[in-house]
Amino acid sequence: MNLSKKILIVEDEPGIQETLRIALESNGFLIQQVYSGEDCLKIWEEGFHLIILDIGLPGIDGFDVLKTVRKKSQIPILLLTARDNEVDRVLGLELEADDYVSKPFSPREIVARIKTILRRSSTTLSKEEDIFLHDEGKKIIFFQGKSLALSPYEYKTLALFLKRPGIIFTREEIMDSVWTTPEDSFDRAVDTVIKNIRARIKEINSDLDPIETRRGQGYGLKEI
Ligand code: CA
Repeated sequence: MNLSKKILIVEDEPGIQETLRIALESNGFLIQQVYSGEDCLKIWEEGFHLIILDIGLPGIDGFDVLKTVRKKSQIPILLLTARDNEVDRVLGLELEADDYVSKPFSPREIVARIKTILRRSSTTLSKEEDIFLHDEGKKIIFFQGKSLALSPYEYKTLALFLKRPGIIFTREEIMDSVWTTPEDSFDRAVDTVIKNIRARIKEINSDLDPIETRRGQGYGLKEI
């Protein structure tokens, strides 16, 4: 069902906006339309499932919008390109975007691409990864699609937990695998790191506490 899927359309040409609106609404999507990169950056974090992003925009162009969004989120993005030289640059981005469609396009093609992207993004993830996404190359952990602002020790601790959800690690094990130079009071150091990870997660969703504390044993990631 697409009924609850919200799509943000970023396109400065009213005719194309209208074509997309009709095609998406008739397929059950909820849409919001903005006409500039600036307006997109104001509202993109308001719970959309996908962004359709035109490259050729006045002011901040689609490439810069894409780069800004990707610093914080892995939200699916479908790019609209007008010229061949844009396609070259899109390919150069090496999948920073999830897909692209060149103009002129058929509305049916757009809808099919969007359904594929949404299916892929909801089925290829395991349960843990639905909540956490770990980009090991860039050393970023995303929680519910948003990057967690973690210090190096916080990042390494959470990465350790993510490798083995449901396993409880003692403070000593955490210190051994994460810290480069062991600290004297490792209990306190580990507790502080855990407290900070929890705070970062709470900033994104205060209802969830995926970290498990087992008294007298240690910490780990709850099995979901
Ligand atoms: Ca345009």
